[in-house]
Amino acid sequence: MTGTMEGGDHGAESQPFLRFNHESLPQRVCFASGEAAARVRAEAERLGASRVMVIAAATEAEPAQTVTADLPVVLRWDEVVMHVPVEVAERARAAAAEHRVDLLISVGGGSTTGLAKAIALTSGLPIVAVPTTYAGSEATSVWGLTEQARKSTGVDARVLPCSVVYDATLTVSLPVPMSVASGLNALAHCVDAMWGPRVDPIDQTLAGEGIRALAAGLPAVVADPAGLPGREQTLYGTYLSAVAFSSAGSGLHHKICHVLGGRYELPHAQTHAVVLPYVLAFNAPAAPQAEQRIAAAFGAGSALDGLERLRREVDAPKALRDYGLRETEADDAVQAVLDVVPDGNPRSVTAEDVQRLLRAAWRGADPRTMTAATTDDSTTTTR
Ligand code: NAD
Repeated sequence: MTGTMEGGDHGAESQPFLRFNHESLPQRVCFASGEAAARVRAEAERLGASRVMVIAAATEAEPAQTVTADLPVVLRWDEVVMHVPVEVAERARAAAAEHRVDLLISVGGGSTTGLAKAIALTSGLPIVAVPTTYAGSEATSVWGLTEQARKSTGVDARVLPCSVVYDATLTVSLPVPMSVASGLNALAHCVDAMWGPRVDPIDQTLAGEGIRALAAGLPAVVADPAGLPGREQTLYGTYLSAVAFSSAGSGLHHKICHVLGGRYELPHAQTHAVVLPYVLAFNAPAAPQAEQRIAAAFGAGSALDGLERLRREVDAPKALRDYGLRETEADDAVQAVLDVVPDGNPRSVTAEDVQRLLRAAWRGADPRTMTAATTDDSTTTTR
């Protein structure tokens, strides 16, 4: 989904006319807890597949085997590495060609979906994605590859899975701390979509519903990790978050996490979970309409209050130093973040702002310290 609003004002409800372009990405989405095998088989038949490549990490081999047991599988691939190193992608691409594969089925988290996308990028093969985390990659046309410790990303219609099968029973095995981090990664898609460079009112509506679902689902997952209702709500929120984010484009939060993840190999979901409140605290006062939407979705007095309440309920990851980042590295990343600040961020961003934000996220400080400097910021928008 891609969208642009003309005229540079994203506060749709304040406008006399609605004027924007929005494109929905073509994808079939099935929600069916406990029915992944039947739904995947139906998708494979619909696509006329006769030579299937199943991509699943060794840790997901068992559910992948169950989900794909009745299919004409010619290749099972378990070399899955976070951020998709180019050499791994090349080996998987060669194997797919050698086995004359006609359908890719991925069963796993964002890293597994990412490898399927890397193969589709050069082969055009269709993907049926069966997600087992809340990363949301399955609903975007964004690919990522890492070469010599540098991660590059791009957008290509060929990498969008043609079908996604969401089966909440497959996420029950995801440990609670990883479920929380991954779900907050999805929440970050929603929040960043609210002020992404191409945001439109449809993205904001999807993102708001995504926040509502995630804020309901994640505490339920923590309270009852084996229960399906919380897992289903979280998957539903994940899907909405990814659709909104894919359309609106990367905002400041994703740019910061991309820099940190690429330079210091920090864990993806946990990095997003830690950084989000600081970016929200920084941007929200300059984007009052987005702030109100986020607050309303949380059912809270303010967006930050809602996020902080949820983070306390689920015992969210707190500080980047807990994930291996050194204090000097937080300072070293400032210029790299400044270089990629997205056009149209609700407020201007200085080196001091980025340094303050990264230092606060490094030590897990109260995110409210980020809002202090916004009062006299002249770039306040109606987003
Ligand atoms: P991941 O796929 O690396 O999974 C994290 C860990 O959880 C792995 O060890 C995996 O084996 C394990 N795991 C997965 N599902 C499990 C389950 N149900 N039970 C038990 N363990 C399970 O991590 P992720 O956070 O899902 O994905 C991160 C990657 O996805 C990053 O490379 C990120 O850049 C990418 N991503 C891409 C997009 C996009 O739009 N292209 C969006 C989000 C994330």
